[in-house]
Amino acid sequence: MTRIVFACATALLLLTIGVLQPSPVQTAAQSQRPAGTGHKGKAFRFNKVKDGVYHAVGTGALAVVGNSSIIVNDNDVIVVDDHVSPAAAWVLLDEIKSLTDKPVRTVINTHFHFDHAHGNQIFAKNVDIIGHEFTRDMLLKGNPLQMPLYKNYVAGLPGQIDDLRKRVAAEADATRKANLQMQLEAAENNRASQAELTPTPPNVTLRTQMTLYRGDREIQIRFLGRAHTAGDIVVYLPKEKAVITGDFLTAALSNMSDAFVNEWPATLDELKKLDFDTVLPGHGEAFTDKAKIDYFQAYLRDVWTEVSRFKQQGVSAEDAAKRADLTKHKEHFPTIQGPGVPIIAVTRIYELLDRGAAR
Ligand SMILES: [Zn+2]
Repeated sequence: MTRIVFACATALLLLTIGVLQPSPVQTAAQSQRPAGTGHKGKAFRFNKVKDGVYHAVGTGALAVVGNSSIIVNDNDVIVVDDHVSPAAAWVLLDEIKSLTDKPVRTVINTHFHFDHAHGNQIFAKNVDIIGHEFTRDMLLKGNPLQMPLYKNYVAGLPGQIDDLRKRVAAEADATRKANLQMQLEAAENNRASQAELTPTPPNVTLRTQMTLYRGDREIQIRFLGRAHTAGDIVVYLPKEKAVITGDFLTAALSNMSDAFVNEWPATLDELKKLDFDTVLPGHGEAFTDKAKIDYFQAYLRDVWTEVSRFKQQGVSAEDAAKRADLTKHKEHFPTIQGPGVPIIAVTRIYELLDRGAAR
């Protein structure tokens, strides 16, 4: 009898210890590997920007689309933006293990767009996912799977895969063939992962500002005004003089589908008031040339003026997209090859002008 009581007590004790054990090093739910994670070599380059601060840029081995930023603190890790799919976020977490064995306890979404927030679902319930209230609203109630930007992206994948398959078959050069094969596998994996997508909103929100303290590190999360979306936030590290900007400020031109084009330059003026020397953008490489902010503000002001003029003249959005001439900005934005502006930008500017007129 005593022996049975002792055995029961021991079992209970072991059970209790088991329950009290801290969760495994990575707090993210990595036990279940999502579809589409297969790839060769590393999927990310971790560019060290400051001590403990890394800019994670995709290598092309996996479709990740946007960049993320990794902040390694005394006891934990913060991930800013989590890419285009559950698979991309899962592989990011796996590769972060090459930097540190500390757990990822916080994720920050700079905004709601699919290439920055569609990895959210892989994180465990005890991970804080922080975003602006607007970002939560969009991912919770905005029907993210039906958003044109995302729908068009996913609708384009089968065609992209067919095209790559043909190009792989036709390519004679071994190096180019291997490169195309990698692109094909990345696109196929992406399609498999998109099929498992469950848009997941932030579980912690802010309206204007929030500050996290981790040891000596201060991490400010700030909403500076409407710009690329109605809820962009920047992550500002005042001691390190670094700012993580999502698509509010990238290394090139940003998409304008949900933008407040006429308010964006003033919001960038608010960014300029912060004391930083390095920008970690949502697309493109990290940079230190702050004149890029001026160039982008000038572009935004001109695209607004130019497209507004066409609207006033009664020109259709399609024609305005062909005729709007921003070529004087091509020195700073080499993707501008001649007259013309993406139709998505013109449609958005027309929509904003209509809204203004309706007020
Ligand atoms: Zn975006």
